[in-house]
Amino acid sequence: MRAWAVTEPGQPLTHIDVADPPAPKGAEVVVEVTHCGVCHSDVHFWDGLIDVGDRMVPVAALGMTTPYTLGHEIVGRVVATGPDVRQVKPGDQRLVYPWIGCGTCTDCLRGEDNLCASPRSIGVRASGGFGDRVFVPHERYLFDFGRLDPALASTYACSGLTAYSAIRKLMPLPPGDPIVLIGAGGLGLSAIAILRALGHRNIVVLDLSAQNRETAASLGARLTLDIGREDIAAALAEKAGGPVKSIIDFVNNSDTSKLAFGALQKGGRHVMVGLFGGTLTLPLMVFPTRGLTIFGNYVGSPGELRELLDLAQSADLPEIPITCQPKSQVTAALTALREGRVKGRIVLSQELEEPDAP
Ligand SMILES: [Zn+2]
Ligand SMILES: [Zn+2]
Repeated sequence: MRAWAVTEPGQPLTHIDVADPPAPKGAEVVVEVTHCGVCHSDVHFWDGLIDVGDRMVPVAALGMTTPYTLGHEIVGRVVATGPDVRQVKPGDQRLVYPWIGCGTCTDCLRGEDNLCASPRSIGVRASGGFGDRVFVPHERYLFDFGRLDPALASTYACSGLTAYSAIRKLMPLPPGDPIVLIGAGGLGLSAIAILRALGHRNIVVLDLSAQNRETAASLGARLTLDIGREDIAAALAEKAGGPVKSIIDFVNNSDTSKLAFGALQKGGRHVMVGLFGGTLTLPLMVFPTRGLTIFGNYVGSPGELRELLDLAQSADLPEIPITCQPKSQVTAALTALREGRVKGRIVLSQELEEPDAP
């Protein structure tokens, strides 16, 4: 099969021949990719280095050696099934849950693949959606998304799921209590849409970009603030509409986490989501004396993905802006993301592909 692969980190992706997925056995499935969202973590993987705070780690440590095929927000059509597959048949279009674990440890058996210590994530450790096909080790990782638009559904596998799982850690919460979201990229916008669908009214969004703040407001944020302003801490305390006790940090770098811990009032809960690196030094006393709680949130579980898809189909989930592009535009899409020029999400769509892209 063909794939838009990273052959040299940071350089334009190249369209090359790669190995076909193996013929499926047992409950395994092979899916032909029809849609694949482009996520900010793909930019880090493309660069070949991940900033873990105090040092840069090469992606080879995650098992990614060139050429590797990224893309983890995948919708595709089933093309081959193992003999034990019961829930899907060739031709079915499904959303792929990519955060697949080993399948045998206690976390995986409890349905929390995203916490598995031996992950096999599609588009990270296993060949992803920037290729023609992906191998799915069990049919339980395929999700029916009903009448949802497939390009939109693809974004639920990562940005939507991550936002949902982060929100779930803070719920239930009175709808008028402030929830502060730091960052209004793909994740932050997904969080606004989900919070609105859950009936939450007081969503406060902090972002550097005026365009992102505008999009956040149009999706239903009650208040948006420029996180770069000098008096951001004071402005947040004054305008949040109540004590700040709930923050989700979709950026999560040294500056944003410092701001968050300065803003959190007694009983505050802070969900760290972003992978932008950096470190944080805090006086430990503030945790017991202010009764603070920190959650780390890494994507979400298959069960949470099912809940999110049900919510999206039953509630009026405001749609994040989506731009569909052919796969041949993948390098341009990654570059635009890196430069902060993407409003919402870019989704690579098979329908837009030229028949013989180079
Ligand atoms: Zn992602
Ligand atoms: Zn496991």
